Amino acid sequence: MRILILAPHTDDGEFGCGASIAKYIAEGHDVHYVAFSAAEKSVPSGSPGGILRQEVVEATAILGIPKKNLTVLHFGVRKFPANRQEILEVMVRLNSQLEPDMVYLPSAADTHQDHDTVSAEGFRAFKRTSIFGYELPWNNLTFTTSAFVVVEEEFIEKKIQALACYKSQADRQYANPEFVRALARVRGIQIGALYAEAFEAIRVIRKGSGQTRFVET
Ligand SMILES: [Zn+2]
Repeated sequence: MRILILAPHTDDGEFGCGASIAKYIAEGHDVHYVAFSAAEKSVPSGSPGGILRQEVVEATAILGIPKKNLTVLHFGVRKFPANRQEILEVMVRLNSQLEPDMVYLPSAADTHQDHDTVSAEGFRAFKRTSIFGYELPWNNLTFTTSAFVVVEEEFIEKKIQALACYKSQADRQYANPEFVRALARVRGIQIGALYAEAFEAIRVIRKGSGQTRFVET
């Protein structure tokens, strides 16, 4: 499968589905990661500009994402709603270039303005694809746990290691191994596993193999 991770900002994909990414890659799937912003205006003063661009390279490498599958765009943090159409056009191009089988993006109940934009435009661009919304509890007004990926200890460990690459974000409460592990335990308990990541099933399409492509005229 070709799997596309849409992260409004570098690190959102690792928080939302880092363990699942590591597991998909270990299983041989082709995972692509696109971040729309390196949030240059959000890093602590004193950090060099573009630090998150370096940190995301390290973090996604730990998850196993090949560097050629990582794209970091230049949209301004907290300005996504004003660039909604441009973001949609980027996604439409990504869809025709990659033709992903599965897309992960922020939950439709994510209240951060940039996340909300990526979620809504992501549905428009990828509505013919399976779409899963990932969980960022500090931003989610509600979260429907309608899909799960069971993840083993080694993948939780990779998620924690990947998040540790974001040294410029280390002061954030949620950038904490105990929290990552605890949330994965909660999601695991829901489905009788040790650890899991939970997702909103926004759209699920079973295409199967040998599909005949429908050509629009
Ligand atoms: Zn974000």
